[in-house]
Amino acid sequence: MTVRTIATVGHPVLRQPTRVVSAEELASPEIQQLIDDLVDTMRDANGAGIAANQVHESVRITIIEVNHNPRYPYKPQIPLTVVVNPVIEMLDDELVEINEGCLSVPNLRGNVMRNVNIRVRYLDRHGVAHDEVKRGLTAGTFQHECDHLDGKLFLDRVHDTTSLTTWEQFERWHRAAFIERITAFVERVGS
Ligand code: ZN
Repeated sequence: MTVRTIATVGHPVLRQPTRVVSAEELASPEIQQLIDDLVDTMRDANGAGIAANQVHESVRITIIEVNHNPRYPYKPQIPLTVVVNPVIEMLDDELVEINEGCLSVPNLRGNVMRNVNIRVRYLDRHGVAHDEVKRGLTAGTFQHECDHLDGKLFLDRVHDTTSLTTWEQFERWHRAAFIERITAFVERVGS
């Protein structure tokens, strides 16, 4: 198991758009090792996802997994998904306000608007093409991770900065209302 160091907000690597990975590169031992390390690093930090540039590798690869996540207990489960060269298409204008955190923004959460219905096309670690529709909080997680690959952080999308809280203050003041609202949303949307 290899846990890599996570870049935190202010590190330039988080602000540079990542580059597309070729088929040959994807099959290489270096990139396959990077994917294994991303899984280890994400799980070690209890993340719901992690992008390669969060571990200082500026390539268009991200990992997503939600498995009874203690940081985000209200998130529907997502099996381990390796996402290479993703392209997201918004399917309509429906938005939801989600309170997000990020492994690269230690101890801060804030509200962002995310599209509810998206289509995502990507390759898995074996180079197999996927074309899928994602909805709800799961769609939000994909958008958060793909933002990383474009050099963006959730902080850029916080439209109301008074929603910014530490995790401690979120637990104390905001968690109950958010969980009530987002649980009703997840029940309606189904993911
Ligand atoms: Zn993040």
